[in-house]
Amino acid sequence: MDIDPDKLASPHAVAFLASKIRNVPDFPKPGIQFKDITTLVADARAFHVCLDLMAEPFIGADIQAVAAMEARGFIFGGALAARLNTGFVPVRKPGKLPADVDEAAYALEYGENRLQMHKGAIAEGARVLIVDDLLATGGTAEATASLVKTQGGIVVGFVFAIELDFLAGRARLEAASGAPVHSVVHVAG
Ligand code: AMP
Repeated sequence: MDIDPDKLASPHAVAFLASKIRNVPDFPKPGIQFKDITTLVADARAFHVCLDLMAEPFIGADIQAVAAMEARGFIFGGALAARLNTGFVPVRKPGKLPADVDEAAYALEYGENRLQMHKGAIAEGARVLIVDDLLATGGTAEATASLVKTQGGIVVGFVFAIELDFLAGRARLEAASGAPVHSVVHVAG
């Protein structure tokens, strides 16, 4: 039997994780189907398996930093940094980081915002993995990638627990950065 490491995420494991995500209709505004990961991370097995499946493609990829976005990205990002033995770089909304920052504007599926990263957070030439809970339009992750590149980092990949396939964020990120996009649970529509 050939062993293919790209196929470690069994359909059974992915279905288990999907079953732990709570769908909240019309939050934070009418028409949005909010994918609530608090029910997934509250389950010890689901959180563990989800982190395994998020980390696995990047084991041995010489990642030097994980950059994750406030606030739900921190839940996965810090844990993944510890698994991959990398540093962790928080990306935050304006006014939260205490020292000098770089800033990028971005559009959400609902609304608009800006993201900031401490100046000098990423070393020149550092290989960076960008982590968030969910990929929708890709605006948040694209803004984070631009901050990483502004500081001289190399975006090695993007990883998400959930991807809303119908919003085509993947194509946007691949076109903008050329880096691979990896998501554990796909929502078709
Ligand atoms: P985007 O920039 O459009 O890819 O949006 C991704 C960001 O918005 C992530 O940080 C998500 O946490 C959040 N987000 C967008 N849409 C949803 C949704 N339907 N359910 C939960 N979170 C969402």
